[in-house]
Amino acid sequence: MTRTDQYAVFGHPINHSKSPTIHQQFAIQTQQNIEYSRQDVNADQFVATTRNFFEQGGCGLNCTVPLKQRAWQFADTLTQRASFSKAVNTLTRQADGSIVGDNTDGVGLVTDLLSNHQIQLKSLNILLLGAGGASRGILAPILQQYPNKLVIANRTAEKAITLANEFKDLGSISGCGYEELRPQFFDVILNATSASLSGEIPPLPDTLFEENGICYDLAYSDEPTAFVRWGQQHGAAKSLDGLGMLVEQAAEAFYIWRDLRPKTQAVISALDSVRNR
Ligand code: NDP
Repeated sequence: MTRTDQYAVFGHPINHSKSPTIHQQFAIQTQQNIEYSRQDVNADQFVATTRNFFEQGGCGLNCTVPLKQRAWQFADTLTQRASFSKAVNTLTRQADGSIVGDNTDGVGLVTDLLSNHQIQLKSLNILLLGAGGASRGILAPILQQYPNKLVIANRTAEKAITLANEFKDLGSISGCGYEELRPQFFDVILNATSASLSGEIPPLPDTLFEENGICYDLAYSDEPTAFVRWGQQHGAAKSLDGLGMLVEQAAEAFYIWRDLRPKTQAVISALDSVRNR
């Protein structure tokens, strides 16, 4: 009997994860025989649980909050984009048993912005909130779209400054704390903090937007997230959450694992249609 290939997502918390549903839909669409589960794994449990997963024959693993930097350390080899971002969301077991780490978050975000929402980043002023694993993963792909400038703001200002320094060769980028944001104006504000997961938003000044400004929360939820609501209340032309990014980064992981590129639009629409909006 052929064994079903095993995939999973690890994170903490993980109950909200839609990744199993998404990968199941990709598998049906492309006629692949796979199983994809989710498991609550905290940072201390990560190495032992991941080792066990691959020893038991697991083929591929997604890692989410707060595990991406641990996954980056865990991988035997890294793709160029994962090496650059120092954060890994996709681990793949090779035929020789070694584990490759990749990062599909950046391509997921940029594909969602450009293809699904027709938002071009070229020449825009962009504010990125947060300096954790997700921010690391998306910085290079954003800068490759040639924005006019990119400012990273973070609760721990030093982390934003350090991160900006690491990427300074790729474009106009700087880092700061939230209190230093005034009086600057942005075309796009991307929330890559995990504050949304607990219904909070970073302390932002009321006037941050250019006319037709866009808010994008990397987090997603059945109800509008606190940051999506903040955007709506502060006059954003569009205030979006990260459901599309989630599906697009999953499609890239599925492509890495199965060498097949699933169609994403129907999956995004199906997930969106069951939300309370
Ligand atoms: P990390 O744990 O690596 O980083 C968390 C970041 O959030 C840090 O910058 C931290 O600041 C900041 N933060 C946490 N709580 C607060 C708060 N209450 N107020 C202000 N800042 C806060 O998480 P990730 O970078 O991996 O993930 C960030 C978010 O992006 C999550 O919501 C995740 O779900 C989402 N995401 C969505 C994806 C998608 O496909 N849609 C893909 C990847 C991530 P400090 O440094 O000061 O601690």
